[in-house]
Amino acid sequence: MTNSAIPPRSVDAATSQRMSRQRTRDTEPEMLLRRELHRRGLRYRVDVSVPGLPRRRADILFTRAKIAVFVDGCFWHGCPEHKTAPTNNGTWWAAKLARNIERDRETDAHLGSVGWTVLRVWEHEEMTHAATEIERIVRSRRLHPADVDASVHTPGRRR
Ligand SMILES: [Zn+2]
Repeated sequence: MTNSAIPPRSVDAATSQRMSRQRTRDTEPEMLLRRELHRRGLRYRVDVSVPGLPRRRADILFTRAKIAVFVDGCFWHGCPEHKTAPTNNGTWWAAKLARNIERDRETDAHLGSVGWTVLRVWEHEEMTHAATEIERIVRSRRLHPADVDASVHTPGRRR
């Protein structure tokens, strides 16, 4: 078996359907989360290189607060609730998905070691909920104008 990054040609129907829904950026859950964070007055950068790991990208980055947010696809990142094993080329897929997860943990470890906080959100999660949690953490840091629009009222405080 080769280590090729090119997927095997024959994938079962369920897998190909799942893959067709996957895009590496601007996925629907990601857009929802971004919109929700923005509505709450948080300001961030989108789809940027992970500090110190130029080939890896964070979905949402709060530069001054040093918080990196990743919206992880259930299939690609091995969500415990929704991960499934493709039936065709099972070994190839198992290795590929295991590598993805390994890379995620490496990224987490690297960011942690340089003083960043990593927040990972599964694509299946309720994004309003996720936004509340992210907002709480961002606002608990020393705030900087680059991360927060001070003129926007924080809806998270209503409850
Ligand atoms: Zn999931």
